[in-house]
Amino acid sequence: MEKKAFVTREQIEEIVKTYPTPFHIYDEKGIRANARAVKEAFSWNAGFKEYFAVKATPNPFLIDILREYGCGCDCSSMTELMLSHAMGMAGEDIMFSSNDTPAEEFAYAHKIGATINLDDFTHIDFLEKTIGTLPETISCRYNPGGVFKISNNIMDNPGDAKYGFTTEQLFEGFRILKEKGVKNFGIHAFLASNTVTNEYYPTLAKTLFETAVQLRDETGAHIRFINLSGGIGVPYRPEQEANDIAQIGDQVRRVYEEVLVSAGMGDVAIYTELGRFMMAPYGHLITKAIHEKHTHKEYIGVDACAVNLMRPAMYGAYHHITVLGKENEPCDHKYDVTGSLCENNDKFAIDRMLPAIDKGDYLAIHDTGAHGFSMGYNYNGKLKSAELLLREDGTVQLIRRAETPGDYFATFDCFDIYHKLVRT
Ligand SMILES: *Cc1c(COP(=O)(O)O)cnc(C)c1O
Repeated sequence: MEKKAFVTREQIEEIVKTYPTPFHIYDEKGIRANARAVKEAFSWNAGFKEYFAVKATPNPFLIDILREYGCGCDCSSMTELMLSHAMGMAGEDIMFSSNDTPAEEFAYAHKIGATINLDDFTHIDFLEKTIGTLPETISCRYNPGGVFKISNNIMDNPGDAKYGFTTEQLFEGFRILKEKGVKNFGIHAFLASNTVTNEYYPTLAKTLFETAVQLRDETGAHIRFINLSGGIGVPYRPEQEANDIAQIGDQVRRVYEEVLVSAGMGDVAIYTELGRFMMAPYGHLITKAIHEKHTHKEYIGVDACAVNLMRPAMYGAYHHITVLGKENEPCDHKYDVTGSLCENNDKFAIDRMLPAIDKGDYLAIHDTGAHGFSMGYNYNGKLKSAELLLREDGTVQLIRRAETPGDYFATFDCFDIYHKLVRT
């Protein structure tokens, strides 16, 4: 897939007059078109709902856009629950898919009426003790173990993942929950991450749908929804082909009819918890080349670092780079594009062929709309950037200001040194 930036050099030169680099910028138009396509792809299912994985991009302005397309929030922590609730979401709008969950998070999730998705068999007891009862509707996360294959390709390794109930625990868990008065059940699984194949959801759906029929038959549980969770990927590399969400939706429909409808379970709602697919392609990290260094290799030093985008340092992930204004120039220079952290893995690209870069050039680092800003940290005392929204009408809206030293030092606010820090 050809990778084109959604902003031009001219636009960025205008924006930096108000908001200096580095910053993340999001493309409203792209977000909307994609959210519409997801909604459409599953419109055959009356109860369909996408719960946006808040951890991917925890920004209320962006989540508000998704809400117009019927999306709720999938939360994994207290602050994500708080954010969703503050946005006016409650009850059916919030899925709480956490793991290793602290008691107070279960208590808060229950208080705001979120649907709780249990990660472990022992959490049945833990939840009951924590909230004094069990909710009417509950979901369990399933991990069948082994490796997850599509045809003969190993996609991921659930047997090595910390998440979910085993098959035995799932059946036993449903029996116990039913005995304790739970009325409606959900099943959830997340078995492979960032899949760039249309077959992931349909393959996963088949496993979950067949399991659901068995669970109903053996435990009598009323299964109200099946949550296919996240895992639909995006083509980070230009040679990859994008997933076709319409085709994915249609293939899930076929499996649904084949397995669920024929078992008399045609009222089961399909839920998703997509993060990356909803947002990743619609974000760029914009950064300026501030240094060039010629030693054993050719380096371009930029004003962003792994604090703004951790995936390359953390996973060796590829993020495409466009040198704005040089889209049509030959990629005949080999560079390492680096940030300023005292870590040699703080590189956005290694041995990347790019056009000749001059100091002052702006680079658009692609596909940072999910697991980008949110994964950042504060190593080396570096501050997190602003987030901007490129509106459909071409205007730019600040949707999170950049961190200041005052934010960074705020947790010293009960100590004397704080006053010196914020005064200087
Ligand atoms: C991370 C996560 C998601 C979103 O995953 P993507 O790869 O961004 O689609 C959904 N559900 C759960 C439980 C997660 O942990």
